[in-house]
Amino acid sequence: MSEKKTIRIFDTTLRDGEQSPGASMNLDEKLRIAHQLEKLNVDVIEAGFPIASDGDFEAVKKIARTIKGPMIAGLARAGDEDIDRAWQAVQYAGERALIHTFIATSDIHMQRKLLMSENQVLDAAVRAVRRATGYTPNVEFSAEDAVRTRLPFLARVVEAVIDAGARTVNIPDTVGYAMPSEFAGIISYLKNNVPNIDKAVLSVHCHNDLGLAVANSLAALDAGAEQIECTINGIGERAGNCSMEEVVMALRTRHDILPYTTNVNTEHIYAASKLLSTITGIVVQPNKAVVGANAFAHEAGIHQHGVLMDKLTYEIMTTESIGLTHNKLVLGKHSGRHAFTERLKELGYELSREDINKAFIRFKSLADSKKEIFDEDLDAIVADEIIRVPEKYKLLQMNVSSGSFAAPTATVELEVDGKVKKTALMGDGPVDATFKAIKKLTKSKARLLQFTIGAITGGTDAQGECTVRLEEDGREVLGQGAHPDIIVASAKAYVNALNKAATRPKRTEIHL
Ligand SMILES: [Zn+2]
Repeated sequence: MSEKKTIRIFDTTLRDGEQSPGASMNLDEKLRIAHQLEKLNVDVIEAGFPIASDGDFEAVKKIARTIKGPMIAGLARAGDEDIDRAWQAVQYAGERALIHTFIATSDIHMQRKLLMSENQVLDAAVRAVRRATGYTPNVEFSAEDAVRTRLPFLARVVEAVIDAGARTVNIPDTVGYAMPSEFAGIISYLKNNVPNIDKAVLSVHCHNDLGLAVANSLAALDAGAEQIECTINGIGERAGNCSMEEVVMALRTRHDILPYTTNVNTEHIYAASKLLSTITGIVVQPNKAVVGANAFAHEAGIHQHGVLMDKLTYEIMTTESIGLTHNKLVLGKHSGRHAFTERLKELGYELSREDINKAFIRFKSLADSKKEIFDEDLDAIVADEIIRVPEKYKLLQMNVSSGSFAAPTATVELEVDGKVKKTALMGDGPVDATFKAIKKLTKSKARLLQFTIGAITGGTDAQGECTVRLEEDGREVLGQGAHPDIIVASAKAYVNALNKAATRPKRTEIHL
């Protein structure tokens, strides 16, 4: 048996992932994701960019205080103020606190964005790392846009920051441009041309613009990289980041030929994927590797026959390995609190007694109108009652009349900052009337970009699930809602999106 090298998994869902359009999360939501990452046992959680806003700072601080196990990283540009602010937030993680600082090293970034020479960039990088090591020995340096950086200069920067005390040096493909063999070549070059390279862990951070983020990350391992930066569901700017579940499951599934392992508890992957989708409103495409709805579905008859005889004829991974339980126990009107609580646990939810009570009341009311309650219904209940909590606006009651004769009219009662407000308006259709009424009560200026509605399960008694995408001041937010009445589901999604638009802070934008 050959020894497997343990690859460090650095999760940046809460930093890079949160930069996806519409993905911004509040403190409670970030904390929920962080707890899930703790269960997954990733090695590093990049909790945010503390100087970006007060909200980002508070979230990183709270995660550093609360989460045990993984190291907690805070991002900082190469400047004193950024690094000091990052430390003020991550310090609560004690020996697990990590400062991640960066500066761009490619000609195009240095000349067009930074307006700095090579030597100025080199000095700034060294100075930043030194300042960070004054606080903690856990310092990571990233050479932004490393893939488009001239290799001799990249090697000079890497050598200098290691000398200055960086324990990890990260090589990002910021723009998702590299090919696997080319990317592996960059890592090999650094291994062969940086004299002190063995004093630091080489890390990779790949974007998915050409769909190669996972392939590039894996190629880098053979060249000597020991840390992969990634996100749940591969979320992130533009086409996103290297997907955590894909890279981890590739290493696990092909352990026969890959001499690597990770510390990730893969059976928490599915719950993590689901939780992130629920919180951000960014749904996973059905054919997404590992966590997509069709990833384990064998629809074609010929496949089904094979699967029934032996799962391994067509499945290279088991559903259990990612925590997707196929125990389709259906709950109903007579299911008790115990069965309900157990099922929630199996689905990966760890809820307080108070939250279980709230969810159980909703479950009972749903079971009155719907004969069979599936896992997807339970996910929707938890999402609606517990995860998507109202912040500024709360939908209290509504009534809509529509049809082919009278003009559609919506009467909506909302709680706005604790005050009850009510109005009735006509519209082109029931959804239009409802949204107009809500818009009037909230005085929102947000523009509706997209509205989609679907059924959570089969059957005409299925719950409707609605997603609303809004734009306000150039920022996008996504809202979701579920209810057996699709107009109520639409209203909930709209109110959820307005809550996000009203409460998410404006922040400094960075790209890494
Ligand atoms: Zn990135």
